[in-house]
Amino acid sequence: MSGSHEETNRERGARLLIVGPPGSGKGTQAAYIAEAFGIPAISTGDIFRHHITHKTELGLKVQAIVDAGDYVPDELTNQLVAQRLSESDCAKGFLLDGYPRTADQVRFLDELLAQDGALEAVVRLTADEDELVRRLTHRAHEQGRADDTEEAIRHRQNVYNEQTAPIIDIYRGRGLLVEVDGIGGVDEVAARIREALAARGIGVAGDPAAA
Ligand code: ADP
Repeated sequence: MSGSHEETNRERGARLLIVGPPGSGKGTQAAYIAEAFGIPAISTGDIFRHHITHKTELGLKVQAIVDAGDYVPDELTNQLVAQRLSESDCAKGFLLDGYPRTADQVRFLDELLAQDGALEAVVRLTADEDELVRRLTHRAHEQGRADDTEEAIRHRQNVYNEQTAPIIDIYRGRGLLVEVDGIGGVDEVAARIREALAARGIGVAGDPAAA
């Protein structure tokens, strides 16, 4: 990516969300999109894991919840995101990964963005549940995440289906939803996302997909 592309993207200031069930590859794709757009990828899961690893006050508070695959209380999560979005690197755009996940978080984010400008698009990765369990079990072997036991994986999928799927309807109702098939190679899925965003006029300058 050249400097001029970065400049254009910074001016553009994309404000994006990525949502998808556990194992849909949203973390990997979030990093790709963020790099292409020159914006920070903000993963609430990564932030919580960082706190847990460093045994901060917040980390100790949320460890058991995260390990069990339950959602951290909205109050804590909302404050964390408000703080992160107030940092200077978010002034020209951001990509939120794993937030909002509940209706209360959607409301909180709406208020937070009311002054600075609303979201431009919500990328939703879709994937078959069997494929997701296969991927996560594989990741458990490779990374040893404490919440990647089969029991916790199934629990996280149930929690996602119950709590987070309804927020997709909210964003669909606002006409912001960009649905992308998450099954395929990393580059293949990344290209699909780029094309789907470009089709809505959200693109990386000089990218053929944006033409
Ligand atoms: P995955 O989507 O693969 O399950 P994440 O890294 O996004 O993993 O999140 C890991 C865990 O962090 C969640 O299971 C939950 O405990 C906590 N978490 C992350 N984001 C949120 C959020 N927006 N609200 C509440 N809890 C969250």
